[in-house]
Amino acid sequence: MKFASLGSGSQGNATLVEAADTCLLVDCGFSMRETVRRLDQLQRSPDQLSAIVVTHEHGDHIKGVMPLARKYQLPVYLTAGTAKAVVERSQQVDIRIVRDAEPFTIGALRVQPVAVPHDAREPVQYLFYHGNLCLGVLTDLGSVTPYVTQCYQHCDGLLLECNHDLQMLASGPYPASLKQRVSGPWGHLNNHQSADLLSQLECSRLQHLVLGHISLQNNCLERVREAVTPQLSGVGQVHYACQDEGFGWLQL
Ligand SMILES: [Zn+2]
Ligand SMILES: [Zn+2]
Repeated sequence: MKFASLGSGSQGNATLVEAADTCLLVDCGFSMRETVRRLDQLQRSPDQLSAIVVTHEHGDHIKGVMPLARKYQLPVYLTAGTAKAVVERSQQVDIRIVRDAEPFTIGALRVQPVAVPHDAREPVQYLFYHGNLCLGVLTDLGSVTPYVTQCYQHCDGLLLECNHDLQMLASGPYPASLKQRVSGPWGHLNNHQSADLLSQLECSRLQHLVLGHISLQNNCLERVREAVTPQLSGVGQVHYACQDEGFGWLQL
């Protein structure tokens, strides 16, 4: 199994998860033209995709999903709540409803949705399984629930949100209401929440940890590193996803 990213952050997210002949796009927060360009940089084209798996309806995750699905006739997997939120945009798209904790199969990959606290209609994140391998994608959550901690216990690869540094957010340019939303229990994980989650995970199998959805205004790599480094014992390689280029293929 391998994974890569077309971009990660509040301007747009899209992740590729691939095993054998199955290639999934997880979210697509870019325009169609931009998606095709970014796929090309990862040596892929839209007609190689098997399906699109969606976490929630926020623009940085959904923007390109329906246009891409329509043009390339890709099935779109999402929760009933997310489907409701995008119903006007999803005509002529093959919609498949998924539910928290109910795994499903797409080609060579088994996919498990995990409910997370985030200010969307019915947001989930995902675990992907192939053989003995498990890849976790975990962004866009305002707090770490015991359920989340339990689900992400034994990942071989993990893309984890480190959205903001609390101090930088507090002194940054966002209006007060947005600061409150981002740092609230239904917003995004700050560096210390992510570090705290890592300290609770069994990381001995974790070959690749990618820290992503890093805010350009309210965070920086130094602060991310400072927070997570004490919790990295047992972790293989650590990477940082960026908005412009995501990250290249990582093999598990
Ligand atoms: Zn997001
Ligand atoms: Zn979101």
